[in-house]
Amino acid sequence: MIQLEQLVQKNLAKEKEGKVASYIPALAEVNPKQLGVALYDLDDGEIGEAGQSEVRFAIESISKVITLMLAIKKMGIQEVFKHVGSRQTGFAFNSILNMEIEKAKYPLNPFINAGAIATTSMVVSKTGEGAFEEILSFARDICNDPNLYLDQIIYHSERRTGNLDRSLAYYMESKNMMLGDVVTSLDTYFKQCSMMVTAHSLANLGAVLANGGVKPWDNKRIISDEEARCVKSLMMTTGLYNQSGTYSRLIGVPTKSGVGGGLMSAAPHKYGIGIFSPALDKAGNSVAGLDLLRDIVEGLELDIFD
Ligand code: GLN
Repeated sequence: MIQLEQLVQKNLAKEKEGKVASYIPALAEVNPKQLGVALYDLDDGEIGEAGQSEVRFAIESISKVITLMLAIKKMGIQEVFKHVGSRQTGFAFNSILNMEIEKAKYPLNPFINAGAIATTSMVVSKTGEGAFEEILSFARDICNDPNLYLDQIIYHSERRTGNLDRSLAYYMESKNMMLGDVVTSLDTYFKQCSMMVTAHSLANLGAVLANGGVKPWDNKRIISDEEARCVKSLMMTTGLYNQSGTYSRLIGVPTKSGVGGGLMSAAPHKYGIGIFSPALDKAGNSVAGLDLLRDIVEGLELDIFD
């Protein structure tokens, strides 16, 4: 068994090389000196944990995986990918540039902000005003975390400073890329980013994807094998924004990050991994978290390209 505690101690100081997100003011309040990890072993259903694995933090962009899964469940893969692409970006996660430069018909992929807002608007188009409540209860189910909740302070902070996200949404609205009401979609997006999770709940989510779309703790299927494969391949190619290529070389495991400092990985058929460390690199990925993930992937030989 891998020594998670030792790996946390080894990587904790790396947070000094990063900075907590400050463009959302409530995130700037978070103590950067934290590193927590949880590992869900599909073999025996055991969960290993170390460091701040039970500390709650904002899920942020990792919620994009949850809404993608929900949109796929409601509309099917074919329909979802008529309205959002599957290509990686060379720009920051909240950039409008590629849509504008390429005169795109839909946003690049569901894990950058534009694509995520468009994906949320798909859920809104099916559910209307109740979309966030549905996302919240879906998140609680697939993270096996009944205490997962919406943090009002973070939500208000996101909403107050979310003008860039608004510009993306209204740009897409003007080009007929939004399926659902734009105001409801934006509000739902700000709320989904403000859901509070732990490394433990993210390990559970990773385990569902690693397990081909079936919750390993109760054997209930959430999405099909093919759909889970699609989500994992997008995590591999676009989950770490414009650094996804770099990390597929360094850490060959499908992973999604969030600016709250979370990382959620799915090592197919083996492990779900959740990590939390809030200090980020320039692309918006957790610095100590990625180093810890790299050690775990090496130690357990999880690289899918091996
Ligand atoms: N709420 C954040 C935003 O919209 C999420 C971004 C992220 O985690 N990369 O900018």
